[in-house]
Amino acid sequence: MVGLFGGSFDPIHHGHLILARVAMESLELDEVRFLPAREQPFKVGQHAATAEDRARMLELAIEGAEGFRVDRTELSREGPSFTVDTLRTLLRESPGIEPVLLIGADAMHDFPKWREVDEVRRLARVAVFDRPGGPRDAGAVWRRVPAPLIDISSTAIRQRVRHGQSIRYWVPDAVAQYIAAHGLYQDGMA
Ligand code: ATP
Repeated sequence: MVGLFGGSFDPIHHGHLILARVAMESLELDEVRFLPAREQPFKVGQHAATAEDRARMLELAIEGAEGFRVDRTELSREGPSFTVDTLRTLLRESPGIEPVLLIGADAMHDFPKWREVDEVRRLARVAVFDRPGGPRDAGAVWRRVPAPLIDISSTAIRQRVRHGQSIRYWVPDAVAQYIAAHGLYQDGMA
C-alpha cells in the first residue's frame, strides 16, 4: 500500500513529517508520497508560495528520508487539483499501488464535498489523523492513525516569518533556509 499525503504544504512543517512517518509505520505502508496541490480546491487563489517553491521545499524536507517521495502529478495539471483525477492518473501509471489517502481531521471535515467523493472512496482507502482543534468524529474511514496531537500549522509558520520570529525547529533547517533565501512569506497573505 502506498500512502498519499496531499496538501498545499505552504510550507511543509514538522507536523506533516511526523504524521507521515507514524502513518507509514502504523499502517505498514510501503511508501508515502507527498503530493503538493497546484491549487488546493478549498484554497483557490490563497496559496502564499508558488507551487514550484512548495514542491522544492518538500523535496528539501524529505531528502534522504527512507520511503518518502514527492509526487509532482498535481503540478502538471491545470486548474484545481482534484484528488479523483490524481488517483486516476496514479492508478493508470501503477495499477497495483493500493492507495491510502492520509488526511488530517480538519481536512476530513470537507471530505463529503470533494469532487466525485464516492469514486474517491472506491479508488482509495482513507486514513485520518486527529488534529488539535479538528472535529473528533471523522465519519466512516478505513483507519484512524494513532498519532500524537501536534499543534503546528503552515499558517502559524507564515505568521511567524511575517512577524520576524524564528521558525527554527518548526520546519526542517533546509526549509527554513529556503524560505529565508527566497524571501518567502515576508508579507501578504497569512
Ligand atoms: P494551512 O495552515 O495553510 O491551512 P496546514 O498546516 O493545514 O496548512 P496543509 O498542507 O493544508 O497544512 O495540510 C495537508 C494535510 O495535512 C491536511 O490533511 C491537514 O489536515 C494535515 N495536517 C497538517 N498539519 C497537521 C497537524 N498539525 N496535525 C494533523 N494533521 C495535519
